[in-house]
Amino acid sequence: MTETPNLSGRIALVTGASRGIGYQIAKQMAAAGAHVIAVARTVGGLEDLDDEIKAAGGQATLVPLDLTDMGGIDRLGGAINERWGKLDILVANAGVLGVIAPIGHVEAKVFEKVMAVNVTSTWRMIRSVDPLLRKSDAGRAILLSSGVAHSARAFWAPYAASKAAVEVLGRSWADETRNMPLRVNCVNPGATRTAMRAQAMPGENPDTLPTPAEIAAKILPLASPTLRETGMLFEAREERFVTYRDPE
Ligand code: NAP
Repeated sequence: MTETPNLSGRIALVTGASRGIGYQIAKQMAAAGAHVIAVARTVGGLEDLDDEIKAAGGQATLVPLDLTDMGGIDRLGGAINERWGKLDILVANAGVLGVIAPIGHVEAKVFEKVMAVNVTSTWRMIRSVDPLLRKSDAGRAILLSSGVAHSARAFWAPYAASKAAVEVLGRSWADETRNMPLRVNCVNPGATRTAMRAQAMPGENPDTLPTPAEIAAKILPLASPTLRETGMLFEAREERFVTYRDPE
């Protein structure tokens, strides 16, 4: 079992914080001492999170935002700069599955939505907060990926392609910042008991899967100021880093 890092006084931005894995990461980071900036569209989910964080003595700022609003992502970076002048932790967790279907049956609007939410908004968020993470003494970025980025499973093409793209964004960013305190890593949470998993596998018994709280606890150490790894993939279930193949 991993130790919960001390995130006292750290500013953490978590996208997709209204439910599922992002909700639990936000809640656990606040419990570990971080001030959480919680982003999602569903205000009710954000308010539930806020209630839980406050009841436990923590602090959060709620940001109801559709991440396909790219200008909104830019403005969020500006607002964080004005209030705190830096960012310590980014968790780019928000994502959509799209549809499980043969590649030729995927509607254009579904494909474009998957790319907009999973890829373009992640890049836009990176661009917005990169200068703020560089101002932190120990900036940490955690990008949520998936095992299908590597298995390229039949019928999962849009989602799998989007997660492969997310990993390359993360690795490129890690390489650019290798000699700085900033550490950038991707995570495969593995099958987790959430709404997205139920959409993908409607026949599955969710009780057989780990809870988002269990998976979030395994992801939290990637935000630790003492973390050394960068540009790696973290397999959350097994709590181990995977090194990408070195370039030729
Ligand atoms: P989830 O329960 O469906 O939650 C997704 C989150 O993303 C929600 O908070 C949702 O908030 C947010 N989101 C979606 N579209 C958005 C938009 N346009 N703007 C702002 N926020 C948006 O999913 P999850 O299972 O917790 O997944 C979390 C991450 O883990 C995702 O990146 C997913 O791909 C990855 N993952 C999950 C599994 C799994 O088995 N669950 C496996 C591998 C990888 P709103 O709807 O309120 O906006």
